[in-house]
Amino acid sequence: MDFALSDEQQMVADSIRAFADNDLLPKYAYWDRNDEFPKEQWARMGAIGLLGLRVPEAYGGQEFDCVTAGLAIEQAARGDFNCCYGILNCCFAGDLLGKHASESVKKAWLPPMAAGEKVVCVCLTEPHCGSDAAAIRTRAVRKGDKYILNGEKSAITLLMVGNAGIVFAKTDPDAGAKGVSAFLVPFDSPGVTRHPYSDMGARGIVRGSMFLEDVEVPAENLIGPENGAFSRVMQTFEYTRALIGLMCLGAAQQTIEETVEYVKQRTAFGQPISKNQGVSFPIAEWSTRMEMARWLCLRTLWLRDNELPHNKEAAMCKWAVPEMCVGAIQDCMVLHGHYGYTKDYPVEQRLRDVAGQLIADGAPQIQKMIIARSVIGREFV
Ligand SMILES: Cc1cc2nc3c(=O)[nH]c(=O)nc-3n(C[C@H](O)[C@H](O)[C@H](O)COP(=O)(O)OP(=O)(O)OC[C@H]3O[C@@H](n4cnc5c(N)ncnc54)[C@H](O)[C@@H]3O)c2cc1C
Repeated sequence: MDFALSDEQQMVADSIRAFADNDLLPKYAYWDRNDEFPKEQWARMGAIGLLGLRVPEAYGGQEFDCVTAGLAIEQAARGDFNCCYGILNCCFAGDLLGKHASESVKKAWLPPMAAGEKVVCVCLTEPHCGSDAAAIRTRAVRKGDKYILNGEKSAITLLMVGNAGIVFAKTDPDAGAKGVSAFLVPFDSPGVTRHPYSDMGARGIVRGSMFLEDVEVPAENLIGPENGAFSRVMQTFEYTRALIGLMCLGAAQQTIEETVEYVKQRTAFGQPISKNQGVSFPIAEWSTRMEMARWLCLRTLWLRDNELPHNKEAAMCKWAVPEMCVGAIQDCMVLHGHYGYTKDYPVEQRLRDVAGQLIADGAPQIQKMIIARSVIGREFV
């Protein structure tokens, strides 16, 4: 067993840490306060390769292994958790399009996405179903060399600034999960309309709903074989779930470190509040849990890199780690006293931002179902 990072992995982690400190953290609150998409940050992330972590080199990406991508997203999240939604989407799209899209789709979309010039969204959820993703109703019907799409997608991250979506639709409505296909749909296609949400956190990364009315896409925009998208998207989620864990850990680690500085300089009853075990123990406890969680996430990514099963481990990352990080950040808020509840410190924003990951990419109950099936056996749960 070897826990050491390679020289390249250490170099990536160190350089993204410096980028997070210098370029992301100073403006983290600005985008939230102004409800603005971090456009300049996006260009910078593209320029240093953060949006091409999992995009094949032939299409302008870095084509890093999954562990390296995880180290990078963890460090980036210390600076700006919300910018990591972009990194996450690019990892998802980089993997899915890189492996399964036609040459023309790869050429048209991967290089500008990796460069930070175009945003590609993931459009699975619908108003009536999220957890039960195979129940989607959006329809795609082949007509000659085109597909015609009709339906509604909801909860889509980055929708309002997106240029295209990987849209999941039924091509065989009677076949359940085996009737789902994926398409690359440019958002400037006639028949696409979008509407923004007002979320409690991640405000600059505006989510929204999309309507598709007789939207035509060329047949070459089909991603992978017809009716073959569901298992592929679920396999890609296995990998992004570990990335989400590390993204939450980056934000929580930054908050813990800021809190350590705060409790050392804040005094009560004639001494730094850190001298009280009631203050130092939560920091010790969360630091311990976060260390355990980090290794779970990194090991899950290592399993993926080594093409070993990691379905159960990915679900563990997605269930336990965001919940743990929200708990850690909430305790840090309390350790800041009333200041923690103000917008003078980033802790309240991190709490709002990280909370979105309790639900996104599969809520806790769904992850526990996956873990239980694996541990107890599908036929017994
Ligand atoms: C910040 C954020 C970003 C998102 N980004 C995207 C995106 O980019 N693209 C996209 O397609 N979607 C996105 N989503 C949607 C997300 O994937 C769904 O919200 C999620 O899968 C849950 O689906 P739902 O909201 O429909 O909840 P439901 O499926 O209605 O579930 C509601 C509750 O019931 C529980 N539940 C459901 N079934 C069971 C069961 N059998 N047993 C026990 N409990 C159950 C769930 O765990 C949940 O707590 C995002 C969501 C958030 C919050």
